[in-house]
Amino acid sequence: MKFRNFKMVDYVVYGRGSFNQLDEIIAPRRKGDAPMVFLLDHFFENSPLAHRIPLRGKDKLIFVDVTYEPKTTYVDKIAGDLKQEFGTVSGVIGIGGGSAMDLAKAVSLMMTNPGSSADYQGWDLVKVPGVYKAGIPTLSGTGAEVSRTTVLTGPTKKLGMNSDFTPFDQIVLDPELTANAPVNQRFYTGMDCYIHCIESLTGTYLNEFSKSYGEKALQLCQEVYVKKDTWDAESDDKLMMASYAGGMSIAYSQVGVAHAVSYGLAYLLGTKHGIGNCIVFDKLEEFYPEGVYEFKKMVEKNKIDIPQHITKGLTDEQFNTMIDVSLVMKPLWENALGKDWEKLMTRDRLRALYEKL
Ligand code: NAD
Ligand code: ZN
Repeated sequence: MKFRNFKMVDYVVYGRGSFNQLDEIIAPRRKGDAPMVFLLDHFFENSPLAHRIPLRGKDKLIFVDVTYEPKTTYVDKIAGDLKQEFGTVSGVIGIGGGSAMDLAKAVSLMMTNPGSSADYQGWDLVKVPGVYKAGIPTLSGTGAEVSRTTVLTGPTKKLGMNSDFTPFDQIVLDPELTANAPVNQRFYTGMDCYIHCIESLTGTYLNEFSKSYGEKALQLCQEVYVKKDTWDAESDDKLMMASYAGGMSIAYSQVGVAHAVSYGLAYLLGTKHGIGNCIVFDKLEEFYPEGVYEFKKMVEKNKIDIPQHITKGLTDEQFNTMIDVSLVMKPLWENALGKDWEKLMTRDRLRALYEKL
């Protein structure tokens, strides 16, 4: 048995308004006149938040397009442009949902590692640390703020740059930044966390480390989505900590069926992570009966639309593509179904599952 030696985020600041400390926090990380680069989710263009970015000297603010989940080509373009303009930078700070945070992690790594980010899609392929990087979530749920990966769609695969150099040096958890997120988006991303908890807590890889965080995150999700009748500031506070704890839970265990299946949807149809997980989880009663029952209650209570029949009319070849992508996720299947998962999850059974979506 080889135990994971888990590299964590170095510094965490939590609290309403903690974003105001950013200037002070990054000051010691500035290297001469090399700029800090802020990658801000394009949703915040012309917003008050854009005017609160602590720009100094040659600092650069880039509004990143997160219409699609991050691509290796986009990461390479941003890093290439920065190298051309500045040579080197003091750091990269990602502010936004999981997409903007993942872009920041990847760009930081590509400021120092040669070649294309596509060369590093996999496990422990990144060999040298990136420049200083900080993550600041404006949506809660993905756990990208604590994870050792940055999920990228490359020329041949959708796979993260998983490495000990990937976690942020600093995260700023300011729940005020998640206020006013659209109800559906907030739900889809929040459910990513809920699903992380269910998949971790029911998985065969479960251990007390994962359980401690997973149970707390699950309880927080239930408080905001099941018990409370209206969304308020406290809900933002709780969901932000749920995301953090949910991320810590899966870091030391693994996700499961919903993630394995939704990867296939993302690859073929471009379905985004949060909504894709919801579409799949909605149909997983046979694997997660209690979780799916509660999920449906939360969907109803929060008046959310979960898209239906999204795989209707796809060809055999397209179904096979999704099945191939999904079955590559071996640790996820093993966590969900145990060592004999290959006997349990046949291509036919997976095809039937995809047809339900
Ligand atoms: P997202 O970052 O893709 O953003 C979704 C939408 O919400 C975008 O249109 C964005 O502009 C908008 N948005 C962001 N903050 C907002 C706010 N406060 N108010 C209103 N709109 C806002 O969504 P997400 O669900 O946070 O992240 C999904 C991404 O995270 C995917 O790319 C996925 O691959 C990645 N992910 C990464 C990890 C990891 O460990 N690295 C884990 C899970 C998911
Ligand atoms: Zn997820």
